[in-house]
Amino acid sequence: MTDSRYDVLIVGGGIVGLAVALEITRRFPRLRLVLLEKEDSVGRHQSSHNSGVIHSGVYYKPGSLKAKLCVEGSRAMIEFCRAHGLPHQVCGKVIVATHEGELPRLEELRRRGEANGLTGLRLIDANELHDIEPHARGLRALVVPSTGIADYAAVCEKYAELIRAQGGTILTSTAVTGLRAAASEVVVETDGSAFSTRYLINCAGLFSDRIARMTGADLDVMIVPFRGEYYDLVPQRSSLVRALIYPVPDPQFPFLGVHFTRRVNGTVDAGPNAVLAFRREGYRRGDFSLHDMASALAFPGFWRMAAKQWRSGLDEFRRSFSKAAFVRALQRLLPEVRQEDLAPGGSGVRAQALRRDGTLVDDFQFVPARQMLHVLNVPSPAATASLVIGRTIVRTAEEFWELDGR
Ligand SMILES: Cc1cc2nc3c(=O)[nH]c(=O)nc-3n(C[C@H](O)[C@H](O)[C@H](O)COP(=O)(O)OP(=O)(O)OC[C@H]3O[C@@H](n4cnc5c(N)ncnc54)[C@H](O)[C@@H]3O)c2cc1C
Repeated sequence: MTDSRYDVLIVGGGIVGLAVALEITRRFPRLRLVLLEKEDSVGRHQSSHNSGVIHSGVYYKPGSLKAKLCVEGSRAMIEFCRAHGLPHQVCGKVIVATHEGELPRLEELRRRGEANGLTGLRLIDANELHDIEPHARGLRALVVPSTGIADYAAVCEKYAELIRAQGGTILTSTAVTGLRAAASEVVVETDGSAFSTRYLINCAGLFSDRIARMTGADLDVMIVPFRGEYYDLVPQRSSLVRALIYPVPDPQFPFLGVHFTRRVNGTVDAGPNAVLAFRREGYRRGDFSLHDMASALAFPGFWRMAAKQWRSGLDEFRRSFSKAAFVRALQRLLPEVRQEDLAPGGSGVRAQALRRDGTLVDDFQFVPARQMLHVLNVPSPAATASLVIGRTIVRTAEEFWELDGR
């Protein structure tokens, strides 16, 4: 039985769903909005299990949504943290080339960054790198001064506080279990009561494809979970890293490679790697879900991806099981780091969309349907870009829906 009627219902209380709710309640205060989150508080998955970096936009293909929304979004995120007194710091980072083969890619990153509108990018030699990060070693490095760090769990809490203050409703411990689209409404079943809404926005992260398929949508993509595991530098060795030290990323792979990140609380993380997780929300190595694995194996794109990426996949698994292999990858950037300097840290699971043809979706993907909009690929830098992603999703929705005239 339907006991609650809304104009807009958002599934998922991660940083993206919250940013969309924040924008709607700000621009359309008369709309009745509810956000449903299955956990007992907001921001419990990707949005609080990440590296906490405010990315600058140096990596992304010029003209892509990622490039545009990251550059605008990083400025908006810094401004938001400043305005609300949230911990953050614009500390800059270095991307370090450790062998000759990486030098053209480092140069290409500088070109990309400039094409994306970043200023202050600088290619430096080993001596200058030593002045900035005395313990890092490399042939050359790219300095990205606009990169920063933030606490995205705190950002989520603040978004939630503002949504409530602007009249929106957030219901936690409420998992969406089914959707039925009728002529002028969508009926949303949960593990508690049912809801009806004129419009639905699906921001369910690792489960966004499942939510979309509840309506019978024939999607070209499936979400693949990639776990990222971290080590922490022990406090007495955290002085090895001043700010952020990154490798030159492998262009065949959408992840950035293991790096060192100073957090807003002063600790230093090393990682994350990127191993295929055998369970969505599988934070530990032994986590396994028959349902998740069976649906992955039944998706043709999974086998095509495995055929193409098995070698890098095996390297990631090796680094997952062997601390020595993980440390060797880190020593390319920071030769002084030793196994005993690293204590096991946390982990996070990335929601990465995979196409039927076996390619990983690179750009952000928002798919509007009649009364629904599915947010199907918002990997990194979506935390950085969340405010601007929220605005973009609402503008996309406005093209299809009558949000204004109730
Ligand atoms: C290891 C790692 C490192 C990263 N580092 C960075 C970084 O440094 N900088 C950066 O900008 N980005 C980074 N990212 C990316 C960033 O964290 C994500 O892109 C962003 O958090 C995605 O937000 P989201 O709201 O889409 O997903 P989530 O935070 O996962 O939120 C989805 C929500 O939907 C809820 N949900 C799912 N199913 C249901 C259901 N049936 N009913 C109700 N609720 C449901 C979940 O409980 C969850 O709270 C990183 C990600 C990872 C994993």
